[in-house]
Amino acid sequence: MPKFVAPSDPAAQWTGALRNAAFFAYADNYLIDIKFGIIMDVESSRAIRQSEVGASRTMIERTEKTFGIKPEWLVADTAYGSAPNLHFLVDVKGIAPHIPVIDKSRREDGTFSRDDFIYDEARDHYVCFSGKILPRSSGARGPRGDHAISYFSRVADCRDCPLKSKCCPKSPSRKITRHVHEAARDVARAIANTPAYEQTRRDRKEVEMLFAHLKRILRLGRLRLRGPAGAQFEFTLAAIAQNLRRLAKLSLQPPDTAAPCVA
Ligand code: SF4
Repeated sequence: MPKFVAPSDPAAQWTGALRNAAFFAYADNYLIDIKFGIIMDVESSRAIRQSEVGASRTMIERTEKTFGIKPEWLVADTAYGSAPNLHFLVDVKGIAPHIPVIDKSRREDGTFSRDDFIYDEARDHYVCFSGKILPRSSGARGPRGDHAISYFSRVADCRDCPLKSKCCPKSPSRKITRHVHEAARDVARAIANTPAYEQTRRDRKEVEMLFAHLKRILRLGRLRLRGPAGAQFEFTLAAIAQNLRRLAKLSLQPPDTAAPCVA
């Protein structure tokens, strides 16, 4: 049950996302060809992360279906860096994610984190600093239900290990959990260390100008129509206006051709 409901528009989401006074809102999601600054698709959604991520998938699928265009890579912020979304991009769509990974596995207490263990993909086990193997558990999954696979070191290996105080000081052996879509997260991590990633992060800042333009010039900080359909209608009209403006600029100053990508 939502905390607050707008009597005039019950589908609007009560949000404090802008870090000042909360208000009722819809999220305006764009799929943008980042090189040309052209909006490829628009989707309104509830102003919560899960819905915005869902909207990005809808737009990718719809753009592919409508225009036969699929981006080679996608730039987005951390909200889109969950394992299931990276799995969708990498494994399902074959899109390179230029997206920061949501990763809570790093330990802050000075003991080894999961990254300190080496994953052997061929044998599906981890190897620790002492060269011991942490095999995959055949039993219960981790605390995140079906999404995490557990790997345990052997108690006999850890008992006399000189690194135990840095590894598993409060338990007889070490446990590592790995998301079922960890491979997709590894792809995003690898991309984050490339020069191309640095460039796309810079390019993305220019895209933010489109959203600033929405509020300051097109005055879309407040919607005139009610309901999800009204929001979609207004967002689409605003995107058309922005594209016309952009096309007018491009016709005066044609850019170099480049592979399509989106943010
Ligand atoms: S405590 Fe166990 S898992 Fe940790 S480094 Fe030593 S042998 Fe490996």
